[in-house]
Amino acid sequence: MSRIDLHLHTTHSDGSLRPSDVLTLAKEANVSALAITDHDITTGIPEALAAGAELGIEVIPGVEVSSFDGNSELHILGYCVKWDEPAFNRRLAQLRESRHRRNPLIIERLREAGLDITYDEVRALAGTESVGRPHIAQLLMQKKYVTSAKEAFDRYLADGRPAYVARELPTPAEAIKWINEAKGIAVLAHPTWVKVSGEGLRTCVTALKEAGLGGVEVHYSTHTKSQTSRYLELARQLDLLITGGSDFHGVTKPDIDVGMGRGNLKVNPRLLTPLKEAAARL
Ligand code: AMP
Ligand code: ZN
Ligand code: FE
Ligand code: FE
Repeated sequence: MSRIDLHLHTTHSDGSLRPSDVLTLAKEANVSALAITDHDITTGIPEALAAGAELGIEVIPGVEVSSFDGNSELHILGYCVKWDEPAFNRRLAQLRESRHRRNPLIIERLREAGLDITYDEVRALAGTESVGRPHIAQLLMQKKYVTSAKEAFDRYLADGRPAYVARELPTPAEAIKWINEAKGIAVLAHPTWVKVSGEGLRTCVTALKEAGLGGVEVHYSTHTKSQTSRYLELARQLDLLITGGSDFHGVTKPDIDVGMGRGNLKVNPRLLTPLKEAAARL
C-alpha cells in the first residue's frame, strides 16, 4: 500500500534537495501524496506541483511557520494554504527578515569563537531568502569545523550553546491566524517540542485549538510508539485532525528518508481526505 508524507523541506528553505528531486525520492518510496512545508516560504510549491503532475503524486501546498509561546518554540504547519496570497506572503517575508537580523549575530558569535565564516558565505550556500541555522551548520561542515549538522547544533547553534541567538517570532495564535486567513489548516508540528509535563500538553493544545488549530502531527520520524499513541489520543479527544510526515531535510538530517523517516514511518493515505475536507470548509 502507498503512503503519504506531509512534512518535507527543500532548497527553498533549509533542505538540501530541490522540490523536483524530493518528488523523485517520494516516487521511489511509493508516496502517493505529499506536502512541501518549507520554513516561512512558499516559493518551492510551483516546482513541486509541476513535478507532482508529471509523476502522479498529489502535492498539497504547505508551509511551516516558527512561533514562540513564551516557553517553547512551536512550529505550526499550514496545509492547503493559498500559497500565493499576497497578505500571507507579506507575513512570511517579515519572518524571513527576522532571520536576516538574527543570522549575522550568530555568525558574529561563531567568529568570536575563532571560526572563519561570513554571512555572505552562508547566504550564497543557502541560495534562498529563508536562511536558517541548518545552512550555517552546512557551511561549518563544508569548512570541516564539524563533521555533521548535529555536531554543529550540539557545539554551537542549539539553544543554550555559545552561538545561539533568539529570533523575534510570532505567537502560535498569530501563526495559526495567518494560516487560517490564507485558507489553510494549521497543525501543531512535532509536539515533543512543547516543553511541558503532565497535563500541560493538553492545556497547551486546547488553547491552540481555541486560536484556530485544526490538527496535530501525530506521526513523525522521531516519535516513539508511546509518543505516537499519546498524541493520537489527544487529537481524538480534542477532535483535531491527525497528520504525519518525515521532516525530511536531506544532508542536515541524513538519517531521515522521504516517506519513511528512520525506516518505521508510515503515514496512512486515508488521513488526507479529512484534511482536504476541513480546508474546503474554511
Ligand atoms: P532555524 O529555523 O534557523 O531556527 O533553525 C531551526 C531548524 O534547524 C529546525 O527546524 C530543524 O530543521 C533544524 N535543527 C534543529 N536542531 C537540529 C539538530 N540538532 N540537528 C540538525 N538540525 C537541527
Ligand atoms: Zn528545517
Ligand atoms: Fe519544525
Ligand atoms: Fe520541519
